Amino acid sequence: MAKVLCVLYDDPTDGYPTSYARDDVPVIESYPGGQTAPSPSAIDFRPGALLGSVSGELGLRNFLESQGHTLVVTSSKEGDDSVLDRELPDTDIVISQPFWPAYLTAERIAKAPHLKLAITAGIGSDHVDLDAAIAAGVTVAEVTYSNSISVAEHVVMMTLGLVRNYIPSYQIVTDGGWNIADAVSRSYDVEGLHVGTVAAGRIGLAVLRRLAPFDMKLHYTDRHRLPESVERELNLTFHPDTASMVPHCDVVTINAPLHPETEGLFDDKLLATMKRGTYLINTARAKIVDRDAVVRALESGQLAGYAGDVWYPQPAPADHPWRSMPHHGMTPHISGSSLSAQTRYAAGTREILESWFARTPIRDEYLIVDGGRLAGAGAHSYSAKS
Ligand code: NDP
Repeated sequence: MAKVLCVLYDDPTDGYPTSYARDDVPVIESYPGGQTAPSPSAIDFRPGALLGSVSGELGLRNFLESQGHTLVVTSSKEGDDSVLDRELPDTDIVISQPFWPAYLTAERIAKAPHLKLAITAGIGSDHVDLDAAIAAGVTVAEVTYSNSISVAEHVVMMTLGLVRNYIPSYQIVTDGGWNIADAVSRSYDVEGLHVGTVAAGRIGLAVLRRLAPFDMKLHYTDRHRLPESVERELNLTFHPDTASMVPHCDVVTINAPLHPETEGLFDDKLLATMKRGTYLINTARAKIVDRDAVVRALESGQLAGYAGDVWYPQPAPADHPWRSMPHHGMTPHISGSSLSAQTRYAAGTREILESWFARTPIRDEYLIVDGGRLAGAGAHSYSAKS
């Protein structure tokens, strides 16, 4: 029987919800491109319920305990005395979410000799040291596509929010003011602006598709080129790399995984090659940009705005400079954890567990590391150090 350790974010400050703003969420059966949504044998939760926080338990307790497994759920993940660190030595399976990542460092993996499976309930397994997982024979899986469209919607919202100067304008209203000039002196239309995505995978392409009807000019770079038919359909301009793309853009959106090739990509040097007044949106991973270079670029006006939902570390400390830098539209890490997304990634987590316990293959598109090497989706999108 397995011991499953699930690290989730805290419940709402006023307690676990007893009712919700809406009564249902739409059923999504498949994603663009045809991949089917998670299909576990059953679910023990109500779609649309808060599943990603500690009391939500990803809806897994009945399923696991009815089969004799042990489930420990905690939000305590920092410091040697955290519940995560205390429970790791006899844990078989760790489940975590990028929004509240249980950083599975090489040291922690070394402290967990029974660990065989690390599941990301969501997308993005960079909080797991993939090289250490490969070396230790730990399988890493994530619920590919479960929240890609959720993130793409957040990117569109942030693009419109920054360019149209929504947040400061809203603030004027809540402050009781009405100075139109204050609101509009930084407000533009997105129509006609050039937007470029760093990576056109599931999220990047979904962002481009959603921005096309706004009559923006669309650019992308990626390690693999999109089919010609897609390029033609969306009138895309391909650039061989990020450096050659960004000088052409008014808005840049980052949708690549964090790995050695992308870490620190947006530094002072790259930011200086962008048009003055570019907006930068990063919902991928914080470490793809140089934290302080972004602050400097906003202060100098090189960037007109920065928005996103990814920080390092998470949770971000109270004095993180991105909380107080000018012209930002940051949120906590929420874009991929809407109640709609939680329904899918909780079901996907259960699907992965069902496959694992039944010793049947985990869907290839969910695998990041398996059998001592990058596998499935991981082999496509990540790079190992060795
Ligand atoms: P996909 O795997 O569908 O797409 C990633 C794309 O990035 C692939 O097309 C890959 O290229 C490309 N890529 C990898 N390295 C580079 C590089 N150096 N330069 C250019 N392109 C590169 O992933 P998703 O679109 O679903 O997710 C992307 C990332 O978004 C995740 O890795 C995660 O970090 C983040 N994310 C954030 C969430 C949030 O809540 N904020 C939620 C979900 C994801 P190729 O296929 O050609 O190898």
